[in-house]
Amino acid sequence: MTDLTGLPAGAELPGPAESPAAAGLPGTAALPGLPAFPGLLALVVVRESVLPAGADETVAEAGGAVLLVGTGTTGAARELTAARQVWTAEAGTAPAALAAALAPMLTAVHTLVLPASPDGRDLAPRLAAALGRPLLAGAAEILPGGADVLRWGGQALVELSVDGPFVATLEPGLRGAEPAPGGPAEPTAITLPAPPPTADARTLATLEAGAGATSLAQARRILGAGGGLGGPEEVALLGRIADALDASVGATRVVTDAGWLGHDAQIGTTGVLVDPDLYIAFGVSGAPHHTGGLGTPRHVISVNTDPYCPMTAMADLGIVADAGTVLTELAQRLETPDADHS
Ligand SMILES: Cc1cc2nc3c(=O)[nH]c(=O)nc-3n(C[C@H](O)[C@H](O)[C@H](O)COP(=O)(O)OP(=O)(O)OC[C@H]3O[C@@H](n4cnc5c(N)ncnc54)[C@H](O)[C@@H]3O)c2cc1C
Repeated sequence: MTDLTGLPAGAELPGPAESPAAAGLPGTAALPGLPAFPGLLALVVVRESVLPAGADETVAEAGGAVLLVGTGTTGAARELTAARQVWTAEAGTAPAALAAALAPMLTAVHTLVLPASPDGRDLAPRLAAALGRPLLAGAAEILPGGADVLRWGGQALVELSVDGPFVATLEPGLRGAEPAPGGPAEPTAITLPAPPPTADARTLATLEAGAGATSLAQARRILGAGGGLGGPEEVALLGRIADALDASVGATRVVTDAGWLGHDAQIGTTGVLVDPDLYIAFGVSGAPHHTGGLGTPRHVISVNTDPYCPMTAMADLGIVADAGTVLTELAQRLETPDADHS
């Protein structure tokens, strides 16, 4: 990934005058009561001290400088590992109000990067519109004059160039983030100007995750159901095998959209975030939206007819075979262990 700061590891983030601005990214002139931000800045929405998936990656991609907005931002700042310079603003999470309050103070920040989390995707287009600049959504990497963005469900990487400032969202789970030297950066609290009254998204209810999602998030072993399984019968067979292996069942969006499993089984950037020791993927292509929710499994096995798919590329063991046939074979061996399976 491009380190736009050009700083050696361990170097302190310089002030806005020398920082990414050195690569042509101007920072803000300090407004009265507000800090001078560098020309490349991560912007992360926090809810009740919880950072969204991809927060540290976004901060690392922005060279270590981040503005946290939302609720419980000071607590969330302590959880960041990649930050070298942190500002916090307690400001609620309503996206239109946030965009209206933030835009005037961020006009001179050349490149704003938000994680492609639900709140990041809500805020980014509103902020881009308020600032009158393009939004490069779903980036895998931020470049000096644009971004490499994922398209076609992550199958294609497209380089987009823009002439001037822009806003981007960064897909989580792709770049990783090294901890910044020297431990967590001490946050500086700022107060956002009150936004003008504006029509906004409203939170009607916050639903607790179902028991299935909770246990999936904590599962040490997960069998993943993908579209390549072909139908609900194969998914049910996968569930039987998961029971026998004391594993949980997760799925891709293709499977949950098809109704073969409930949406609380969906793993990914818009589903449950997991971090198992073992992930066995059956007929899963390995799209970034899915792998972005996988955490860092110690062992990955991929069963897929395509030996070159991303899921198999990231696996320790790739089994190039029909997933249904492998499941049937596994079921026989697990359910009748004493029979002759030769
Ligand atoms: C905004 C947005 C958010 C998204 N969020 C998520 C998310 O949170 N989670 C998520 O999972 N997806 C999400 N998606 C969808 C995601 O981009 C992919 O489309 C999805 O993950 C693909 O699922 P899949 O791998 O099961 O299906 P496919 O892409 O259809 O892949 C099927 C795989 O099965 C293999 N296969 C085919 N037949 C067989 C067989 N007989 N045996 C073995 N293998 C076989 C194929 O080679 C292929 O690799 C999101 C998309 C968007 C646009």
